[in-house]
Amino acid sequence: MHIKTLTHTILTMNNYELTKDAVDFINDDKLHSLINNTVEDKARIREIFQKSKSKQALTVEETAQLLAIKSPELLEELYETARELKRSIYGNRIVLFAPLYIGNYCINNCQYCGFRSSLSAAVRRTLSEQELVAEVASLEKEGHKRLILVYGEHPRYTPEYIAQTVKTCYNVKVGNGEIRRVNINAAPLSIEGFRTVKEAGIGTFQVFQETYHKETYKKFHPGPGIKSDYMWRLNAMDRAFEGGHDDVGIGALFGLYDWRFEVLGLVEHAHHLQDRYGVGPHTISFPRVQPAYGLDLHLPYQVTDEQFKQLVAILRMAVPYTGLIMTARETAEVRDAVIEFGVSQIDAGTRLEIGGYQEERGKNQELNREQFKVGDQRELDSVIQWLLTRGFIPSFCTSCYRVGRTGEHFMEYAIPGFIGRFCTPNAMLTLAEYIEDYSSDATKKAGYELIERELGYIKDEAKRADVAAKLELIKNGKRDLLF
Ligand code: SAM
Ligand code: SF4
Repeated sequence: MHIKTLTHTILTMNNYELTKDAVDFINDDKLHSLINNTVEDKARIREIFQKSKSKQALTVEETAQLLAIKSPELLEELYETARELKRSIYGNRIVLFAPLYIGNYCINNCQYCGFRSSLSAAVRRTLSEQELVAEVASLEKEGHKRLILVYGEHPRYTPEYIAQTVKTCYNVKVGNGEIRRVNINAAPLSIEGFRTVKEAGIGTFQVFQETYHKETYKKFHPGPGIKSDYMWRLNAMDRAFEGGHDDVGIGALFGLYDWRFEVLGLVEHAHHLQDRYGVGPHTISFPRVQPAYGLDLHLPYQVTDEQFKQLVAILRMAVPYTGLIMTARETAEVRDAVIEFGVSQIDAGTRLEIGGYQEERGKNQELNREQFKVGDQRELDSVIQWLLTRGFIPSFCTSCYRVGRTGEHFMEYAIPGFIGRFCTPNAMLTLAEYIEDYSSDATKKAGYELIERELGYIKDEAKRADVAAKLELIKNGKRDLLF
């Protein structure tokens, strides 16, 4: 089918309507003025650090102050504040997940993407039901419990189709393996479409704005394809809320425009959702553009490693109730340098080729089968070992979502003792499950050492005994115990 006809089909199918009171909450002039006219003010910046330590979200103006930091001394203080927030307020666990690419047919023409419609050399494929089951089985055999399903934008990926793939994932059970939470990264839907997908029992629905800067947005999304409409995308998470979601993920693709503009855009977006729906985004993602097949982009706004570190620390302080996701687009070295500044979730053992989890790593890994190049190529067990040596508890916890405690990031941050009561014990239990069912000997040793140490930190005797008893049950074959 011709691409214009496909676009028309999607518009009709999607009931192409914004929410009734849709607003463009990104004022380009205001954000530019904040970036250009805010100068480093030491006293003010230190006040903002204090505000942040007292668990308050920052305004866009305060965020702009942090973006204006240049002096090495203040930068060090910024990192120290982010580190302290991460350790003392969020605890030391890192949630692990795997992305699973379902299909890469796409009507859009995003200039940075290896799946863009104009790239005729891209190998197009959608997993069959049988192949999807095999992919999920492979992931379960590695030890994964949390997935994010990823789709191009195409009439074949209807809300009903997405819902069906979610159900398929939940139904695959291999040995003690099961998928306990499925998140989605797909094209923005209509309110009804979002409702259909929500009813399949998903966790977070992610849509990245890519760039909040309108002119740049136009340049990188020239069409054809519905993604060329900035407002259709900016309004996506509003429609998700109207369609019954209370758990949405936003993001920006860093490198398309000034990183400071994108940080302010993300903060504006978070405030908009918080003001309108009483809940901010569950997660923020901040991918940097990676090399992709057929990509010859001139990117004057590419973000350096140092800027990347700064933007993560600033986001941690600006939106304290929101989880931060750092993906395997980044190399192992960058992930190691940045993780302590407030990241709460990472993917591991990532394969981006469609059907890639059943293949040997490196085999058939031509770039024209991937959306972009993965930076961190380590397997799940190696990533877990790395986290353990850094003193983090790798976690597969899905507890809040499954017992109906939505808004967990808000609770972690706002309810005293929440992390000690729920998050840390659940991280320990899911790590013990991983160790018993999937880990290498080295990971087993390091993992149980960390669990013992963490047990010792639990002050409440009854709680400590409760966690120890559940750990014992896991060693004896019980699974899916949670607080
Ligand atoms: N097709 C849907 C969409 O565009 O919203 C969802 C899936 S898309 C495959 C997921 C995200 O990958 C995009 O939102 C974009 O931010 C990111 N992405 C695309 N090309 C990339 C590249 N070359 N490097 C890094 N991330 C990229
Ligand atoms: Fe398609 Fe998404 Fe890639 Fe754009 S980013 S070309 S919409 S898969």
